[in-house]
Amino acid sequence: MLVYLNGKLVPKEEAKVSVFDHGFLYGDGVFEGIRIYNGRIFKLREHIERLFYSALAIALEPPLTQDELVEATIETVRANNLRDGYIRIVISRGEGDLGLDPQKCKSPNVVIIADKIAIYPPEVYHNGMKIITVSTRRNSPQALNPNIKSLNYLNNILAKIEANRANVPEAIMLSIDGYVAEATGDNIFIVKNRRLITPPLYLGALPGITRQTVIELAEKRGIQTEEKTFTLYEVYTADECFLTGTAAEIVPVVEVDGRKIGKGIPGDITLLLMEDFHQYVKEEGVEVYK
Ligand code: PMP
Repeated sequence: MLVYLNGKLVPKEEAKVSVFDHGFLYGDGVFEGIRIYNGRIFKLREHIERLFYSALAIALEPPLTQDELVEATIETVRANNLRDGYIRIVISRGEGDLGLDPQKCKSPNVVIIADKIAIYPPEVYHNGMKIITVSTRRNSPQALNPNIKSLNYLNNILAKIEANRANVPEAIMLSIDGYVAEATGDNIFIVKNRRLITPPLYLGALPGITRQTVIELAEKRGIQTEEKTFTLYEVYTADECFLTGTAAEIVPVVEVDGRKIGKGIPGDITLLLMEDFHQYVKEEGVEVYK
């Protein structure tokens, strides 16, 4: 495996950054997770744009342009000869001293890893997922906005620990005010009366690229999406529920906190959108091997 590290493709064993990097010391940095389907990088420009917005929000200046990062990403996938897989881009604050001050970090580190992806077992997509709501609240947007995809994922990890203890693969996180925000690494949708409902981003959720894709695919089918705040009551009484994310794709949810959602099997609209999504990812995306 070859890893992109600050402009060079190096063997995995040599892909190392300093322990003084503030990404390591403080979680000071930003990242993206991107899929490769059928030799195409799905929504590459959208991911790079979100990465740059995340960087802007934490006042981190990437050492290369969006176009250069697009090229570097394509090059990394090509060097690893991947047709299907997952890309992780990380831009960390870089090496500094032991204090917090990011001004002491002179050059950000840029890493691109392209690898295979481990996803949920096929049964989950077939039978649906059982999830719970965790007590860890999603970061307040007033404190650390979840719109930023930063290296500081401790909030999500605390939620994941609760999910692990309950033996479920994902979990719902509520906002500080108790509204449904998102899952630990995915966005959430419910379906009620053939309409999609998803929490607004200002509540504290990542502007998911899969989320946006699903909204657009639904629109093409004449299914409307409403962004509105809702509570667990609306989830428990929904006709359908599903999660979206780059790694997870679209996952049907059939049980939340011991309550069956709808008929307790993946819903019709969920299945339709999953089908549309699988078709779409094969055609959309930046071609790696031209
Ligand atoms: N929410 C969180 C907290 C995430 O980390 C992610 C990405 N894994 C998502 C939502 C889904 O976003 P995307 O569809 O862009 O992968």
